[in-house]
Amino acid sequence: MDYGMIGKIEKAKRYAQERNRIHFNALTVTFDGDNNPHTVSYDHGTWSCDCDFFQTRSRCSHTMAIEMILESMIPVTEKV
Ligand SMILES: [Zn+2]
Repeated sequence: MDYGMIGKIEKAKRYAQERNRIHFNALTVTFDGDNNPHTVSYDHGTWSCDCDFFQTRSRCSHTMAIEMILESMIPVTEKV
């Protein structure tokens, strides 16, 4: 491996510890819920999920779990 790549890997390791450098703009995931898989997406501050709870509350266990996982990399929506 060349020295240039070795330096980049070291930098990547440091960056990976500095999560506040990373800001998600959009993402889509398949979330394996207890009963069914759900499609959860985030687009510039707006969450969506295809589960029944989300349709009436605009937040659900799936969106909140991803918010917790992506802590500091995604703006936090209002606390309940
Ligand atoms: Zn959901």
